[in-house]
Amino acid sequence: MHYFKKFHVEPGSKVDLSTIDASFKDHHESHQHALPEIETYRQKLADLQYLMYAENKRSLLICLQGRDAAGKDGTIKHVLGAMNPQGCTVTGFKVPTKEEAAHDFLWRYHRTTPEKGQVAIFNRSHYEDVLVVRVHNLVPQQVWEQRYAHINHFEQQLADSGTHILKFYLHIDPEEQLARFKQRIDDPARHWKISDNDYAERPLWDEYTTAFEAALSQCSTPHAPWFIIPSNHKWFRNLAISRIVTETLEALNMKFPEPTVDINEIKQKYHQIVEKEHEESAPQ
Ligand code: ADP
Repeated sequence: MHYFKKFHVEPGSKVDLSTIDASFKDHHESHQHALPEIETYRQKLADLQYLMYAENKRSLLICLQGRDAAGKDGTIKHVLGAMNPQGCTVTGFKVPTKEEAAHDFLWRYHRTTPEKGQVAIFNRSHYEDVLVVRVHNLVPQQVWEQRYAHINHFEQQLADSGTHILKFYLHIDPEEQLARFKQRIDDPARHWKISDNDYAERPLWDEYTTAFEAALSQCSTPHAPWFIIPSNHKWFRNLAISRIVTETLEALNMKFPEPTVDINEIKQKYHQIVEKEHEESAPQ
């Protein structure tokens, strides 16, 4: 559980994001150098997800949070790209709709948690309700303050029902964010991604830092750990996340279910006949 431990927020610890290097890339010199390792974990991830699907006993919920341009979409493309789409769902959470806002804040999230055998990825998550909501005072302080406990209970309930939860904060610095916004301007195919709002949030960088630190410190639990992923290098972010997901799934010691039929009997009953027919119909 090497990477799991390295980036894990110890439950009860106080997170200070200023002490974490967003450009960290471990022993890797470059993306090129890390490619074999990236490929190994992609393959392992594919095999483990297949096993989880076949076993059909438990599920995995991956929550992705980060500032604008931190790489939530890119992570999903990479991690999900390794998996069979039949066993995965992705849900993005935007400003709540009228119907969503008319319910308790967890309602819309609970509806798309994974069923047994499935992996669900949340692109933004229930943490928005203690991040953007806290920074912009969208509800009174006494309301958002209670939400950390509500979130911990919600996650405990999911974990008790067989859902494994992994939460990733994609850590970039302000310079990297601005560089990524600029790349969008330079690439006409990405102009659609540019929003005035992204720039408008930049002066609130420190307020968001405080809100992220509170969520990371108060809601990293043994049953739903937070990880802080250095994400200035996209390839390192992908490597670290696929490795943590792999390490988590490996530790579950999942097993293929026992066959529901007698394989030998099936072989005898159908395949010998088929092979015989095949031999008989083969040209002499
Ligand atoms: P994304 O950045 O996820 O690709 P958008 O550019 O549409 O998609 O941004 C979604 C917006 O919805 C973000 O600004 C986010 O803060 C906001 N949002 C998500 N959840 C909530 C919430 N519960 N309350 C208010 N705003 C929210």
